[in-house]
Amino acid sequence: MGIPRPAMGIPANAAADGENDGMASVSTRTPEAKARVRRAQLLVYAGRNEVAARQDVHLRRGIIFHGRLGAVEAAGLRSRGFTGALAVDPERYTKLNEQPPRLISDADLCATEQATLGVSAYFAPSFATQRTQASLLSVLEDGASFLSAVERTGASAPAYVSVVVTPFWLSEGLDVLETAVRDFARPIAFVFAAPFDPLGSQAAVEGALRLIQASAGAFILRCDLSAIGLVAGGAMGGSVGASATTRHLGMPLRNARRDRSSRDNSLHVFVPRLLSWPRGSTLEHLADDLDVFVCRCGVCQGDSLLRFREASRAVEAERHAVAAWAAIADAVLGDNDPIARWRSVLESADNAYGELEADGVALGRPGFIRAWLSVLPA
Ligand SMILES: [Zn+2]
Repeated sequence: MGIPRPAMGIPANAAADGENDGMASVSTRTPEAKARVRRAQLLVYAGRNEVAARQDVHLRRGIIFHGRLGAVEAAGLRSRGFTGALAVDPERYTKLNEQPPRLISDADLCATEQATLGVSAYFAPSFATQRTQASLLSVLEDGASFLSAVERTGASAPAYVSVVVTPFWLSEGLDVLETAVRDFARPIAFVFAAPFDPLGSQAAVEGALRLIQASAGAFILRCDLSAIGLVAGGAMGGSVGASATTRHLGMPLRNARRDRSSRDNSLHVFVPRLLSWPRGSTLEHLADDLDVFVCRCGVCQGDSLLRFREASRAVEAERHAVAAWAAIADAVLGDNDPIARWRSVLESADNAYGELEADGVALGRPGFIRAWLSVLPA
């Protein structure tokens, strides 16, 4: 069942590859793929809770602020002379349970606001797609009107239509969404949303890669470490959350689960060798000399991450997190074979969990690690 092609459609690059066989292939060995990865940027994604977001580590990397307060932060940075990569995600896609209203009336306003900030990329104020083709088409049509508004600002930066991909669209809805993305033939910023890790299964990672490869230019708007693999696998760029709260667009949790997690006020501590963010409270009983928690990022310089069991160290923990994932991203995307390097980073993390378990330390292994390992060529 096809989706009508929006009036704004332009010829699709992705369709030139011929019929899709339903499988995503990942390789960064061709000269074109290497050139794309070299150009790609992974920015920091931050909101009002990321208090270190105005500081050195984040700004060297480039930053995307989200929401209305994000626009205020971005304007403040520009007024203080910041000239680096900066963007604003209007983030009106969070109303997952509401019928998507039309956005044509404020597409112009939103484009003008972003143009005033001199953004590095424009993001549409898209709403989430519900489980219907009509909802999906509505988001893409509104996105097309936003792209036209951006063109009228005389912008030189790329513009993306934001599409929220809920678990339904990575499973039953995948064929429909993939066709719509290919027919739309305009750049899309994907926001993978789920109650927990949106890319925590082999099917989800394969689906995400298919969507990226079907698009005429993909950006990964807010993500965790999987953004590195998605850029290696075909996206033009992306952003990784500055803290645990911005690395996914969450979906509503069942009350019991939410109540339990809200009682724990300890920090989420990014552990680069484990590619995960365990709570400080889960690290309380660990021996201080565990090698896996020694961090050599520019912020820690050989100190143990176990110091972040102190909740008062939130700002330093956030600066460490960005420095540490940025080092991983740069190593992968700067490699001669980024996909092979991404696989080796995942394998190292998988092995590190095994070593901890052998020492009697059980920490939850994020699903995305084995999901990616099951998809990538060995
Ligand atoms: Zn560190």
